[in-house]
Amino acid sequence: MEKYEKLEKVGEGTYGKVYKAHDKATGQLVALKKTRLEMDEEGIPPTALREVSILQLLSQSIYIVRLLCVEHVEKNGKPILYLVFEFLDTDLKKFIDSYRKGPSARPLPPNVIKSFMYQLCKGVAHCHKHSVLHRDLKPQNLLVDKEKGILKIADLGLGRSFTLPMKSYTHEIVTLWYRAPEVLLGATHYSTGVDMWSVGCIFAEMVRRQALFPGDSELQQLLHIFRLLGTPSEKEWPGVTTLKDWHVYPQWTPQNLARAVPALNEDGVDLLSRMLQFDPAERISAKDAMAHPYFDSLDKSQF
Ligand code: ADP
Ligand code: MG
Repeated sequence: MEKYEKLEKVGEGTYGKVYKAHDKATGQLVALKKTRLEMDEEGIPPTALREVSILQLLSQSIYIVRLLCVEHVEKNGKPILYLVFEFLDTDLKKFIDSYRKGPSARPLPPNVIKSFMYQLCKGVAHCHKHSVLHRDLKPQNLLVDKEKGILKIADLGLGRSFTLPMKSYTHEIVTLWYRAPEVLLGATHYSTGVDMWSVGCIFAEMVRRQALFPGDSELQQLLHIFRLLGTPSEKEWPGVTTLKDWHVYPQWTPQNLARAVPALNEDGVDLLSRMLQFDPAERISAKDAMAHPYFDSLDKSQF
């Protein structure tokens, strides 16, 4: 690790700190991320290595943060992996916050929202094409290059050998705001729809500059969703009442989604409503989302 000069801490994520660093040999700025593995004394588990190579493969896409290399070090006889990523200047959460606070508070420009959504769908489509679910899409996990107007997916694909804790190492509760209803209801088999739900929540959040469903417990999270979209029944979501954590909930009727995102045009509201379908089988795919009329006015040749 002497190859790198740590500059400052840029993130305090689920597993540990992420540092901005400087590659002494090339001068390149990088992000160093220490991973915590489900460890035994045997060394790096093969499943972890497999996932790292998947990550390396996926990161060929410009809409996924580039994994430059992996450094393997030993600390007190225990293996530690450092992932070395290209460095981006901010993440989408900080980006949205910069429009929310202070004297220059204003909405995000609609063309920026549209461009970021397109890039996000493109990155998600790339993951899904390789059968990788992200499972934790949220503004903090999307990196932004402000100058170039580029958005990239980060914090990807370490779902199996790198455990997803309920609390981060700083004891912060892992956010539920972007979690799909089937996951909240205890579905054991879930698919690409979980990511598309999160994409919908992120879309709405860029428009609103505040979260769409800011729940602070799994129950509150579901109630937030049901209050806006109506309490689902077997009619709109076949099988919902057989999910493990299904209960009887207050019966709400669907509200007008457009009112939750007043600054969004009609095509945008239509796309959002397709991302927020209760039945995961009805939810729009990333690839189909890219062909939605909302993106018709976008110059797609630049992507
Ligand atoms: P965790 O699994 O701990 O959530 P992340 O990969 O999401 O780790 O990183 C945590 C935070 O660090 C991100 O929310 C982001 O603010 C920052 N970060 C991560 N990777 C980079 C990067 N390549 N460039 C700049 N900042 C980064
Ligand atoms: Mg993260």
